[in-house]
Amino acid sequence: MERLDGLLVDGAYRPATGGGTFTTLNPATEDVLGAAADGTAADMDAAVDAARRAFDGTNWATNTAFRAHCLRQLSDAMTTHADELRELTTAEVGAPAFLLGGAQFEGPVADLRWVADLAESYDGWSTDLGEAKPMGVPTHRWIEREAAGVVGAITPWNFPHQLNLAKIGPALAAGCTVVLKPAPDTPWCASAVARLAAEETDLPPGVLNIVTSSDHALGAQLSADCRVDIVSFTGSTNTGRAVMRSGAENLTKVFLELGGKSAFLVLDDADIAGSCAMAAFTAAVHAGQGCAITTRLVVPRARYDEAVDAAASTMAMLGCGDPTDSGTVCGPVISARQRERIEGYLALALEEGGSFAVGGGRPADRDRGFFIEPTLITGLTNASRVAREEIFGPVLVVLPHDGDDDAVAIANDSPYGLSGAVHSADSDRAWAVARKVRTGTMSVNGGVWYGGDVPFGGYKQSGIGREMGVAGFEEYLETKAIAEAI
Ligand code: NAD
Repeated sequence: MERLDGLLVDGAYRPATGGGTFTTLNPATEDVLGAAADGTAADMDAAVDAARRAFDGTNWATNTAFRAHCLRQLSDAMTTHADELRELTTAEVGAPAFLLGGAQFEGPVADLRWVADLAESYDGWSTDLGEAKPMGVPTHRWIEREAAGVVGAITPWNFPHQLNLAKIGPALAAGCTVVLKPAPDTPWCASAVARLAAEETDLPPGVLNIVTSSDHALGAQLSADCRVDIVSFTGSTNTGRAVMRSGAENLTKVFLELGGKSAFLVLDDADIAGSCAMAAFTAAVHAGQGCAITTRLVVPRARYDEAVDAAASTMAMLGCGDPTDSGTVCGPVISARQRERIEGYLALALEEGGSFAVGGGRPADRDRGFFIEPTLITGLTNASRVAREEIFGPVLVVLPHDGDDDAVAIANDSPYGLSGAVHSADSDRAWAVARKVRTGTMSVNGGVWYGGDVPFGGYKQSGIGREMGVAGFEEYLETKAIAEAI
């Protein structure tokens, strides 16, 4: 796609104030893809102003049919340009091509239509509570749900379309207006949406604003702006804390989707080899850059070696590959900085007494691109930092358990609570474990919970609130009780 160096502010797809740009890279080749608009504090200020005016001064919030129409147009525009967007996404994110059929592209584009349908069919807009005589006054009562206002959306880079559209879609469907500040690592994915929204939809000026920038400070500016009603943030737990602190000043509602260190639990009656091969595959997908990826493999102590062999041989077979190749599972990580961070954790694993059953560094056969081999770490306990902290690379730690209760205890002995998996030959036993793990999503025997109608989010330090599904839509609504005397 051409012309991806623009911002969307107040209906205009335009350069940053002062014309500043920054480069975006292909992480698989380290080649410069091109220039992105380097939005400034003035651009962010103009975007929030436009979103505020569009919310307060138009009927956007109450014209549900028109909102649904605009969301379907955006979905259609992205579908029309799907070939270019797929190519761009693989180039900028380094995500393996096979993911484009799901969460990396097609899933979130289809979900725009799902949420448009939801806005039109939602039965919670107005609820008649009927008549009563509170304090002796004959009264008819209703509960109205209405748009919460201006949404400041801040996103990371690992699944840019999923992350951006899972905020834009439900927020616009609910009747809010939006200012999106995407990650500096993937500005073009966001700019493509900005351009299509400006050129191929009827979205009114100010309803959707997208400000790309190399400067993280624009995220802080957005989250501290008192004209914003909800800050919807996805990113690391540490940045989430900063966002919550900024929101505290204005008592802004914050909605946080944060990090994870999810456990893949293999019970002693499960197919150990098959389950551990699946765990290894999952940890290697997109070089482990998924907040919900299971990165602790918890296996029966008596079968630890068998589990390690199965997981290690799968990882060795997968290796790293060119993300444009349909057979690649593990592409590059997003940046040199991210690769260094992962390498720091690999060094720490050795310091903490662990060893690598496979992987442990950069692949020998690639001298360009930010690649890390799929890596399996053995010999650590759940108390180690490597088992507790989010690494965000293709790194899996194998831990032994002594029965179902111990497996659950290990899963829950984590500051995070985002996702998880359990494998057992006995469905009831697997469900009993799934119910005890304190996380927002659980997969049983390989089931996939991802989908537009499924709420996603975390317990504990993995976040506050839910994205997607009806619950994700309702995050962007306020509740008002109206009582009329009769
Ligand atoms: P990050 O927290 O560094 O950045 C996320 C976004 O916040 C970026 O747009 C960044 O510019 C912005 N930002 C940075 N400092 C800010 C501040 N002080 N105030 C406001 N905004 C600020 O995260 P990242 O490294 O880009 O992404 C990786 C992280 O995202 C991982 O921890 C991962 O688990 C998490 N993540 C979570 C989910 C989820 O749904 N739970 C999904 C994807 C990624």
